[in-house]
Amino acid sequence: MNRLKCLLLCSFSSLIFAEKSKIAIIGAGIGGSSVSFYLTEKLSKSDVSITVFDSGRVGGRLATTTIAGREYETGGSIIHPANRLMVEHLNRCDFKRSRSHEDGPFIMISKGEIIFQASDGFFDKIKSVIRYGLFSLLKLDYFVGNLLENFDSVYPKLEAGQGYDTVAQLLDAMSPVSKSGDQSNEMTKLTKVSIKQKLQDLSISDILINELGMVAPKVNYGQFPENLHGFVGSVSLAGIQGGLWNVQGGNYRIPECLLQKSGAKLVAASVVSISNNAGTNNVTYRLENEEITEEFDTVVVATPLTPDKTILKVLIDGQVQSFAGSFQRTLAYMVHGELNPSFGVDSDDNLFFIDPEEVVASVSKLIPVDFDPEKDTTLPHVFKLFSREELSDADLSKYFSSIKDKQIIDWLAYPNYSTYHGLNSFRLATNLFYLNNIEWAASAMEMSALAAKNIVNLIVNQPVNEKMPFEKEL
Ligand SMILES: Cc1cc2nc3c(=O)[nH]c(=O)nc-3n(C[C@H](O)[C@H](O)[C@H](O)COP(=O)(O)OP(=O)(O)OC[C@H]3O[C@@H](n4cnc5c(N)ncnc54)[C@H](O)[C@@H]3O)c2cc1C
Repeated sequence: MNRLKCLLLCSFSSLIFAEKSKIAIIGAGIGGSSVSFYLTEKLSKSDVSITVFDSGRVGGRLATTTIAGREYETGGSIIHPANRLMVEHLNRCDFKRSRSHEDGPFIMISKGEIIFQASDGFFDKIKSVIRYGLFSLLKLDYFVGNLLENFDSVYPKLEAGQGYDTVAQLLDAMSPVSKSGDQSNEMTKLTKVSIKQKLQDLSISDILINELGMVAPKVNYGQFPENLHGFVGSVSLAGIQGGLWNVQGGNYRIPECLLQKSGAKLVAASVVSISNNAGTNNVTYRLENEEITEEFDTVVVATPLTPDKTILKVLIDGQVQSFAGSFQRTLAYMVHGELNPSFGVDSDDNLFFIDPEEVVASVSKLIPVDFDPEKDTTLPHVFKLFSREELSDADLSKYFSSIKDKQIIDWLAYPNYSTYHGLNSFRLATNLFYLNNIEWAASAMEMSALAAKNIVNLIVNQPVNEKMPFEKEL
């Protein structure tokens, strides 16, 4: 290229490169904030301008409340030690982890009777073997261990920049590869069978399925093993391996930190519609009673789009899109008081109610998010009770002999898996992505972070004719 030609082309090129690509993210939970962070990790901040919209609080379903003068987790609380992206977020934010209160001794109760008690000691292991049978326990342990190992195989692929268009393809990428190098679809197949059926197929004893196999889905997803598919059911069972943690100071601090690191502009507004026409996005949001429409090159929806969860409408080439399914209601009763001694149990134990008729799933004694073992010699007695229905004071008195204070957080918490409609695409249209389709595989902080990393790879790897302005070739 001669000097004059270069002078003309290079300055034209720098003009194009100077144009920032406008990206909108709807939702500032762990999903949206992770998208924002990974975008600026992959792309220079001088090339992109990121706007994050949230109609509520940063953190979304990661939230705390103050009761008895201390702060406690009310939503997404436990993180598995194998959740690599959450561990990386913790480290990059320089936060500390605390041991989760839900990872302690537990008591299983059915129809008012204590049926099993475990404090994690040697004798408990013997008790488990006697009750559930050694082979069933080993088979369950092998099944969960194998799932975690397979799950782990997706991280290097995402790190290398691979992007998967659909949730099914992402699950396939976690599936084992045969000796001849063929990719299986074991993980996707797990979503086609209930966790109850899967455990039965593994010849695990009925008593183990009906007791431990009931606790994990009921406590973690407020649902039953016959309604959860095998993949999400296995994710819920992974918690029984222990080592669970949460972020000191509150899990919501991670989304706050990620947004701050990305330098995204946070707009406290409710997005009412996204209209995508041939790849161009118009985002309409409500700010102080005014509706504003703004054009964005790329939009990532990082909030569930089922009609019970949001008012947001998505139009593609003029057609309103519908999003099937519904979310499971879970009420978190935060109670400052005393447990009803009629259970005859130590109040530090987690109580798990496995009777399907019992609307309460669990009662756990909580540790505040800023717990300091040196200063906190005594703690207020604060409990979290999860119920799928509203409880009257009379109902609560069955669990608590005295209540000094209580708060109720009414969540539409995670998908109702009995309304499951398959594993759909992360790409709704050209330049329009939907993160929370991942929740139909499993709803968890790590899953939203995983979907965020995948979507950023999809954005960065878009075909040339769909590329963002700074990547367009001259
Ligand atoms: C009670 C409970 C217990 C849980 N326990 C665990 C657990 O122990 N471990 C675990 O890993 N996971 C747990 N989860 C699930 C976990 O919390 C979620 O999977 C995860 O937080 C989802 O994050 P997200 O960013 O994808 O969505 P969200 O956190 O829901 O974020 C979406 C954001 O979008 C905003 N928004 C919605 N509509 C609009 C709009 N129209 N305009 C602008 N903003 C909008 C919302 O205000 C919200 O902040 C639990 C959830 C609940 C509720």
